[in-house]
Amino acid sequence: MGVSPLYSSRYEPSIGESRSPAPSRSWSTIMTQTTSSKNTFLNLDPATGETISEIQCASPQEVRQAIARARAAQPAWADLGLEKRAELLIQAGDALLERKREFAELITREMGKPVNDAVGEVEGWAGTLRRTMEEIEEALAPVVLQGKGCESHVLREPLGVVAVITPWNFPIGMPLELLPPALGTGNTVVFKPSELVPQSGQRLAELMNEFLPRDVLVQIHGQGEVGAQLVEGDVDMIGFVGSRATGKAIMKSASGRLKRLVLELGGKDPLVVFADADLGAAADCAVLHALRNTGQVCCSVERIFVEDSAAERFEELVVEKARLWKHGSGFEEGVKMGPMVSAEQREKVCEQVEEAKQAGARLLLGGDIPDGEGWFYPATVLSDLSPELSINHQETFGPVITLSRFNGEEEEAVRLANDTPYGLGANVYTGDLERGRRIALRIRAGTVGVNRYLNAAQGAPWAGARESGFGFIGSVDGHKQFTIPKTISFPKD
Ligand code: NAD
Repeated sequence: MGVSPLYSSRYEPSIGESRSPAPSRSWSTIMTQTTSSKNTFLNLDPATGETISEIQCASPQEVRQAIARARAAQPAWADLGLEKRAELLIQAGDALLERKREFAELITREMGKPVNDAVGEVEGWAGTLRRTMEEIEEALAPVVLQGKGCESHVLREPLGVVAVITPWNFPIGMPLELLPPALGTGNTVVFKPSELVPQSGQRLAELMNEFLPRDVLVQIHGQGEVGAQLVEGDVDMIGFVGSRATGKAIMKSASGRLKRLVLELGGKDPLVVFADADLGAAADCAVLHALRNTGQVCCSVERIFVEDSAAERFEELVVEKARLWKHGSGFEEGVKMGPMVSAEQREKVCEQVEEAKQAGARLLLGGDIPDGEGWFYPATVLSDLSPELSINHQETFGPVITLSRFNGEEEEAVRLANDTPYGLGANVYTGDLERGRRIALRIRAGTVGVNRYLNAAQGAPWAGARESGFGFIGSVDGHKQFTIPKTISFPKD
């Protein structure tokens, strides 16, 4: 079945169809004006500023109806059993893999990333569905305990209806972090994709609904206001990926009925480089993971601390490598960075860079908005940053590499790495692996890489420590959070 037209965009040109002229106002102005008058918002191409489509927001009544439909469908979906649910979800994943190019082009059109990276995104997440279902089987396996005069069976039950709310930076990947565990464990879902990538989210839901029973996955459109209505509605759990500020608002709203939460939020990840490290490898990691997706990744390298004696050489290496990161349309051959997702996002980056420049930071590369259409921002490298700058503390989410020096002491490395409220990821490069291990243990982050970027083996949890999250996703333990344990005991001689 398909998603009800009630929740669909009013106008959906296919990729390449002619577009309306570029709007001359900023993104935030457009959003305010359109939403206040027509309850719609514009879906804009970040490479040109042109309108892709105008999207109808779900009304409060439609949000309630969506939840009611998902609730009505939930018992039968749970009764279907894991084997059948997994089979349907895997079929949907396989179909997505077959149509990866089509989805990748939509991602590039809506949020700008190079189309090959978008293909990688679809492959990466859709390709792990089988493994996720195996993990869910493990998560749901009953446990039998023997007690004094009793035998207890610990079962895992679904929670009911899960609200899944996602950001724009991985338009297929982020929904696929939450939808498979939410659905695989027997819940039904109301899914609201980001307003910046509405068609990617809608098409994903439509594709999945070619395999799933009716109303198991209901998709709605809207901005933050619709997300807030969904969270306040009659849902049992909220699975959310997005900013720290929105995560906090969701937690507050969910407290009224103690709804279950999994929140994956922002980061300000450090990279610590000691002088005895392989500087070339550390510079490769710094540049790739500060610039990929135009820096718009939750676990981007956002703060780099280099031991004094290696700082000059490291700076040269980083600038040399970052220079190769050509920006342009994600459809153009050889482009490594697409535009930023919105004028608003670019403005935030500009403000942080300007503040740093005013405070005496050295600009080694980039730093200026290029001429022409689209929300492009060049690969930028800043050095000699004073500690109090907002670029050292607030998430930047842009293609900016910030280099600071430290005295080479472990204590200082740990202090600097922990000097934000965030705790998503961290990276350490050193010639002394034991020192790397000691530092990794003391950095307050969910995931740490030593002499490599932080990405871990499949099956590891993805957790945000401190204000980078609440609960976590991925792994057998992560999937369990979409369920509630129930213990039933029987007498035993
Ligand atoms: P955002 O918080 O602005 O929006 C995320 C989603 O929440 C959108 O769908 C939005 O419409 C919705 N929303 C906004 N206000 C809401 C409210 N009051 N109630 C309910 N829903 C609401 O974030 P964004 O700009 O879309 O995404 C970027 C952020 O996501 C960054 O901070 C990034 O670090 C984070 N992120 C984290 C991870 C992770 O795994 N930890 C992964 C990707 C992105």
